[in-house]
Amino acid sequence: MNPPLFRDQIFDNFDDFLQVFKDFSKESFTLWTTYSSAKRDDDQNLKYVHFKCVHYRKPDELTSKSAGIRPKQSYIAPLGCLAEIRVNYVISGNLKNKYQIVKCNLQHERLNSESNLKEKAHELSHDDFVKHPSNRRLNKEEEDEINNKFDTGSDAKLIAQFMSKKTGKWLTIRDIWNVRTKYLTNQKNQNCENYPLKQFEQAMIKQTYRNR
Ligand SMILES: [Zn+2]
Repeated sequence: MNPPLFRDQIFDNFDDFLQVFKDFSKESFTLWTTYSSAKRDDDQNLKYVHFKCVHYRKPDELTSKSAGIRPKQSYIAPLGCLAEIRVNYVISGNLKNKYQIVKCNLQHERLNSESNLKEKAHELSHDDFVKHPSNRRLNKEEEDEINNKFDTGSDAKLIAQFMSKKTGKWLTIRDIWNVRTKYLTNQKNQNCENYPLKQFEQAMIKQTYRNR
């Protein structure tokens, strides 16, 4: 059986890739950072995205480049981890307009500078995964914005693209639909609470019990 993500794997669109990528990351507790990405000039679709494990930086890289500057967010240890995934937009051939994985290393290993051999770089932990800012849920304002966009006729795909850009969280169409479904379910429940005959019904129930 193939692993969920592998080299040369093809996806019909970027969102399909993102869904599998997110599911895999969630199950394996893998935290990624966008190392680089670019958009196509003509249609603004993604040309490529290169993800690296959040621990990709080498220990010496950090001290030399930003000596004395403390990272703003929670500290992520620079461990020289080699895990990475790169997905490219296919420009020509029979896979044109699809997305293809061109780099895929899911092993969290580093190169030992003395032996020149690969060794384990770090563990993957559930705690680190859920606490990382990229995995924080959407807040109330963000959810409201999504629902407002639905109300004004925008579609889930456009909303996903817009909100991903705005929040820096990688959101799929399914994430957006989850927000919408939650909202609609709440609305429905509220409507049930408020429906016109509710009070009358309650009064009748009281009366029935009183007259017993
Ligand atoms: Zn790693």
